[in-house]
Amino acid sequence: MTRAIYPGTFDPVTNGHVDIVERASKTVEHLTVAVVQVSTKRTLFSVDERINMFAEAVAHLPNVSVKEYSGLTVNFAREVGASVIVRGLRITSDFEYESEMALMNRRMAEDVETICLFSALEYQILSSSRVKEVAALGANVSALVPKNVWGPLVERLEISKS
Ligand code: ADP
Repeated sequence: MTRAIYPGTFDPVTNGHVDIVERASKTVEHLTVAVVQVSTKRTLFSVDERINMFAEAVAHLPNVSVKEYSGLTVNFAREVGASVIVRGLRITSDFEYESEMALMNRRMAEDVETICLFSALEYQILSSSRVKEVAALGANVSALVPKNVWGPLVERLEISKS
């Protein structure tokens, strides 16, 4: 059976991410959620906060662990003995970006395969950035993130407003 990583910024983890992890964890021996330390995106949460929130949200899955990484994703995959990179695809938005990234990763590491999974229909328009955007404007979108994420998210947005 295969070991895989699921890399991302996860700022913060949403139900769409958890859905991908649940699906992936059924098909691989072990899945490491790989939280990138420094993202090209400016993050609301520190890497430790992003890791802790994700770990709590997937605590019910025994073959999933959450770790921080920096540098090339393919190098981290090799470091943890993973031959698969899992990514999530939303039908309306991700194909171009994900296919370019997958082909670039393949160029650097022929032995690491990218596998894209589709989240449930209800999560197809869900992204961390959209959640942050509407939550900052006062919308209650708590149903779109894991239970342990909503409190810290509101708190952080309140803080960053002042
Ligand atoms: P990155 O900065 O690497 O894009 P993200 O945290 O935004 O990190 O996303 C990590 C992965 O999860 C990406 O493959 C992204 O396409 C996927 N993803 C994000 N939200 C969803 C969702 N609602 N449904 C399915 N996949 C998703």
